[in-house]
Amino acid sequence: MDPKFIFITGGVVSSLGKGISASSLGMLLKRSGLKVFMLKFDPYLNVDPGTMSPYQHGEVYVTDDGAEADLDLGHYERWLDINLTKESTITSGKIYGSVIDKERRGDYLGACVQVVPHITNEIKERLFQAARVSEADIVIAEIGGTVGDIESLPFLEAIRQMRLELGYGQTMYIHNTLVPYLAAAGESKTKPTQHSVKELLGLGIQPDAIILRSEVPLGTNIRQKVSNFCNVPLNGVFEADDCKLVFELPMKLHEQGIDSYVMEHFGISEKSPKLDDYERFIERVKNLHKKVKIALVGKYVELHDAYLSVAQALKSAGYENDAEVEISWVKAMNVTEENVASMLSDADGILVPGGFGERGADGKMVTIKYARENKIPFLGICFGMQLAVIEFARNVLGIKNATSSEFEPETSEPVIDLLRGQYAGIKLGGTLRLGAYDCRLKPGSKAHEAYGADLIRERHRHRYEFNNAYRELFEKSDLKVVGINPQSDLVEVVELEGHPFFVACQFHPEFTSRLLHSNPLFREFVKASIKG
Ligand code: GLN
Repeated sequence: MDPKFIFITGGVVSSLGKGISASSLGMLLKRSGLKVFMLKFDPYLNVDPGTMSPYQHGEVYVTDDGAEADLDLGHYERWLDINLTKESTITSGKIYGSVIDKERRGDYLGACVQVVPHITNEIKERLFQAARVSEADIVIAEIGGTVGDIESLPFLEAIRQMRLELGYGQTMYIHNTLVPYLAAAGESKTKPTQHSVKELLGLGIQPDAIILRSEVPLGTNIRQKVSNFCNVPLNGVFEADDCKLVFELPMKLHEQGIDSYVMEHFGISEKSPKLDDYERFIERVKNLHKKVKIALVGKYVELHDAYLSVAQALKSAGYENDAEVEISWVKAMNVTEENVASMLSDADGILVPGGFGERGADGKMVTIKYARENKIPFLGICFGMQLAVIEFARNVLGIKNATSSEFEPETSEPVIDLLRGQYAGIKLGGTLRLGAYDCRLKPGSKAHEAYGADLIRERHRHRYEFNNAYRELFEKSDLKVVGINPQSDLVEVVELEGHPFFVACQFHPEFTSRLLHSNPLFREFVKASIKG
């Protein structure tokens, strides 16, 4: 079967949940037996979000093959339970960078290089590349931003051309809009949707389907109106009302027939999605019996999206343990020796996630010490592991000046260091160690028990490492090295003996946690927190 392309656009406002709609559709198609690949076009000029502040962009998601990507890729991977690749994250920065490189190499043979056709060709080439590499039946491409933005114009022009090249039967446009409810008038308004579709039409794109986001149920009259004014068959106008549980959206869209509508469009003989385990999952989530409170101590806690995958992994871990996880967002900079006990008094478990830079590091170490001494279940991730090592070195091993060379490049006690020698043979991306690496776990350790495997693979995004010059010293103490990368001998996991659950890892386990089965470290951490 030739690959089919579904293009997801958004109109009226941003933050419509396009990524969630795209993921819902992807999930339904995958569960119907089709091979689905997802990608996101981000119209900004950064090559990737790796250099952006979390305040600008939220979390930087990392794929197996080491791409730093938009957080929507996390939704795609979690909801569809698939592994995506660098083909899934395409920015204007990447597109323009590559066109400019080609121009400098002389590849365009004297042509005047222009947005149309050179940039648009590059965009289309990325779409075909994604289809080739993934060998997918269906490629779903979400276009970031809102129709009408200057930045997204080349992407919209490229997807318009895709229809001309491949025809109706291989391309589909799905537009997401907001239908606001005016309480004073007691009415839902379709005019913004009509305008947004007009804008798309002005760019040469007639949507084949529309997903209406609304805070209230809309009903057939509104859908009929949108159908008439936007020139889309009534059965191609779908409602995405606010659900109590966001996971219900795929079911709601399925009930409205979105999967069969899409298959019919593509001439795929209709299959119906297998949803029984998913329905059971929703039932389980609606009927959780326990509650557990996890303190997440980080630098950017006002912006929950900065820790989106961590939060999702905690929630999923809760579902597997029949528990509702409540996250208490604690600002690291506010935690001191004096207030730590009161700030964390109601936490059943404590998590210190990844991070960069010295600001807030002291508060995180005070937190870790508190978890260590009071035997509160603790999970440290990346920076969280590095700080656990520093805290232990200072307060238990008595290495008073222990620190990371991230804070003090010339320190005499770099227990966490930039170990260039150990990077031999490792692909570094920019300057970070990115993507999935092996980790061999020590039998008998909590991590080994959690994964039930000797060898695992998890994703990384960091520059500094546990300094192996200190390893023997740690091995003689209670903070044991229980996971190493077999190729480079880099430390991946440490655990505290004699503590109910004190595990810290250099990798980011949140990136492999999925909706229906959470990452094992998260699952066991939450389990220990419930008990504690
Ligand atoms: N700042 C640390 C490093 O670069 C940790 C990074 C992280 O937590 N992702 O190694």
